[in-house]
Amino acid sequence: MFPKKTNYDLIIVGGGLSGLSAAITASEQGLDTLVLEKGRTLGGNGNYVEGAMGVDSDLQKQANINISKTQLLQDELAYSHYEASAPHLKKLIDSSGQVINWLAELGVKFSKVGGQGKSWPTVHSFAGGGYAAVQLLAKKAQEAGIEFATSISAQEIKQQNGHIRGLSVMNEVTGQMRDLVCNNVILATGGYADNAELIKKRTPFYQKLMTVSNGKATGDGMQLAWDAGAQHYQMGAIQYGGGAIYDKTQPAFVHMSSQLAAAATQEAILWVNERGERFVNEDVNDNMCHAGSAILTQARVFSILDQTAVDHLTEVGLYKEVGNSPVSPEKLATLRQEIKHDLDTHQKYLTQADTVVGLAEKLNLSNLPSTIEHYNSDVEAGCDVDYGKDPQYLTAVKDGPFYAVELGVGMACALGGIRVDNNSEVLNRYGYPISGLYAVGNDAAGMLVGDTYAVTLPGSTAGYAAFSGRNAVLTISRRAAN
Ligand SMILES: Cc1cc2nc3c(=O)[nH]c(=O)nc-3n(C[C@H](O)[C@H](O)[C@H](O)COP(=O)(O)OP(=O)(O)OC[C@H]3O[C@@H](n4cnc5c(N)ncnc54)[C@H](O)[C@@H]3O)c2cc1C
Repeated sequence: MFPKKTNYDLIIVGGGLSGLSAAITASEQGLDTLVLEKGRTLGGNGNYVEGAMGVDSDLQKQANINISKTQLLQDELAYSHYEASAPHLKKLIDSSGQVINWLAELGVKFSKVGGQGKSWPTVHSFAGGGYAAVQLLAKKAQEAGIEFATSISAQEIKQQNGHIRGLSVMNEVTGQMRDLVCNNVILATGGYADNAELIKKRTPFYQKLMTVSNGKATGDGMQLAWDAGAQHYQMGAIQYGGGAIYDKTQPAFVHMSSQLAAAATQEAILWVNERGERFVNEDVNDNMCHAGSAILTQARVFSILDQTAVDHLTEVGLYKEVGNSPVSPEKLATLRQEIKHDLDTHQKYLTQADTVVGLAEKLNLSNLPSTIEHYNSDVEAGCDVDYGKDPQYLTAVKDGPFYAVELGVGMACALGGIRVDNNSEVLNRYGYPISGLYAVGNDAAGMLVGDTYAVTLPGSTAGYAAFSGRNAVLTISRRAAN
């Protein structure tokens, strides 16, 4: 439904995590605010988030987690090859603990705080998942008098003499257009993971990406900003979600809690490429983004396991802790049923054979038998001579039947292409702010990364969404006060 009025102090484009953070802050600051959401419901991909980054939060203090902010900043800059903006990353790191405390004061509940794989212990897991958090924020903002218009999308930014003057919006159901007036617009549209053309431009490996985004992250904020004169900044990293079952016949979220996926990607016994050769230390799966990069660089990737591994994972338990996977943390109790179901229904991503040679023939993996022979001798010797895999995760592949699960790479979000300053103001091609235009959340998160999303700082996109939404509104308030 179209908004009730035509004039506002502030219009926030996008009712996801960053937009809701901005909306609550706007209510605290007494700004007459409208949130536009092109979907029928609020929360965006924030509904699926597991946790948000924070440094020096009260929860971390209670858990005796001490992080050197200077070291963290230096590490992240190095990880990004200094493509990340040091001032912006520093402001995020310095503010993030207070933002987590602010969310907690609003009533957002956190179940734990810690790390992911070998990361910094920065991720604050939402109790009840991101859904509980964003729905609470939406309710609070509505109660505080913020207006929300769902199924309404921003189509064009109106400017006059270099200042924002309003927006053209469209009713997504009827196609009707309307003009709205405001001096401040915050773009909070969630990045471009669902824009196939932009993803193709960002990576030549796009065909192997299995997106778990909600379909609405179509890069609208970036296009609106560019059309308004914003600088085309680097298209920031794609957030690779590590190995994922390669299945183009169903939406990728279907496999998100699959135990076969856990066995193939997070247990990662033996990964081979299209020639049947190992190409990486499978422990790379400790960092889902690194695992994604490694898998993408091969034409095809198969995760190989034998019946002993299937039985062990089902009955005894995991070889390796599966981190924040939604599967059972102790055992993959339904793994055998899943395998049977997938074989019975002829799923292309799963192949079974009684012998290694048979498996190699079925998939045309010519070097698989020699790879497995070599790998098993490494397992017996307790030393991965090729890639240095941790000996405790060296697991033999010996007893038929043998299984090959084809892997693609999960994609949660794509960050980028708008350059902002430390006030979250959108910068033009000369590096100066476009007066009244702000970008937050994934739309601006390309500022924080180089070529790969920094899962060394887990929860950083959600943490950034909450931080930057708030940051933009505080800037608007400061400006109004001067
Ligand atoms: C499955 C999944 C799991 C994730 N888990 C994590 C995690 O654990 N930790 C983490 O840090 N990050 C995680 N992410 C990344 C997540 O995208 C961000 O943390 C967070 O959602 C970013 O907030 P945002 O406001 O930028 O985008 P969103 O929350 O996606 O909100 C953007 C909103 O803008 C709306 N919109 C788009 N275009 C328009 C338009 N033209 N007009 C009006 N509205 C528009 C969209 O419909 C959407 O509701 C995950 C992502 C996915 C998909």
